[in-house]
Amino acid sequence: MRITHITVWQINLPLHKPYYLSGGRLRFDELDSTIVRIDTDVGIHGWGEGCPWGVTYLPAFGKGIRAGLAELAPMLIGKDPRQLDAINRTLDLALPGHPYVKAALDIACWDILGKAASLPVCDLLGAREPDPIPIASSVSTGSPEEMLDEVQRFRDMGYRVHSCKVGADIHLDIKRIRHLVENELDGETIFYDANRAWLPREAISVMNAVADITSWFEQPCETLDEIAQVRRQTSHPIAIDEGLHTYADLVRIQSDGIAELVNIKINRVGGLTKARRMRDFCLATGITMLIMDTGGTVLSDTAVAQFAQAIPASACLGVWSCQDMVTVDPAPGQGARTVNGCFTAPDLPGLGVDMEIDRLGDPVAVYA
Ligand code: MG
Repeated sequence: MRITHITVWQINLPLHKPYYLSGGRLRFDELDSTIVRIDTDVGIHGWGEGCPWGVTYLPAFGKGIRAGLAELAPMLIGKDPRQLDAINRTLDLALPGHPYVKAALDIACWDILGKAASLPVCDLLGAREPDPIPIASSVSTGSPEEMLDEVQRFRDMGYRVHSCKVGADIHLDIKRIRHLVENELDGETIFYDANRAWLPREAISVMNAVADITSWFEQPCETLDEIAQVRRQTSHPIAIDEGLHTYADLVRIQSDGIAELVNIKINRVGGLTKARRMRDFCLATGITMLIMDTGGTVLSDTAVAQFAQAIPASACLGVWSCQDMVTVDPAPGQGARTVNGCFTAPDLPGLGVDMEIDRLGDPVAVYA
């Protein structure tokens, strides 16, 4: 099987409501998504998506993906898309780094491999765990009351895991956390995500002020060094999200004892092949995972669901659904959908989503 051509679309995904990250540090109302379709000489095609969470969240942006695809896509013409490690070596030789640029290509190749093998991607990854996977909400920063209202909105959709954004004024952060803890329901998990916003002294002050709570804090500071400093002076479990880009980052997180959890975002780490290596390391070393993407349509969400479905529930505390936050759906009725606050990976070959081309508009590029 050989890749014959690669088609690229750009679509805007308006959010239902503007999103505020870490006390207004970042505000946006639309995502810039890139959709990739890889076609082969045997008539099988695969889909992948790359969608950063705005332009200031990570060193990633939509135009960067499409510029990177112009370098990378021609390198894959004629390659066998089923040979995922070889595909990834080709991508890494052609363009070192830039993992977020490569994710859509890698995901589309997994879709093809699943269709060729007549197996869902989770089966290719080694398991279909029996339980639906809880979806974590994403509750943007606001007043304590506004944040609890937003948690309630997600509760009404069945969500039982909530990622509440903190990281602004530290006195207000303590009030936010206290208000959410006091109103937490039995069987519910609320964790606190600072999205790198705190300086170490701020993280230490907030976390020690709520030392009695049993939850964890995600990405309290910018760098792994800063978080290691926080780790030495606080007692909560810590999750690393934006600080995990490469396998070497993960090895350091484990060997230096920086965190007990990681949030593996498939686009940020470069696709399912690299995410799989990280999953296996986490399972071998007792690191708990959350599996998410940085944004996107049901296509990205379904890649997340397929990946998370192959992880034991005890090691994967949640996923994230971006589709519930955007107003555009290019594959109605398909893929992983929110049911009682959970995702289940489709039991179809490949990812289990076939994008409706007439909902994507005209392609922005075709490589052949
Ligand atoms: Mg996070």
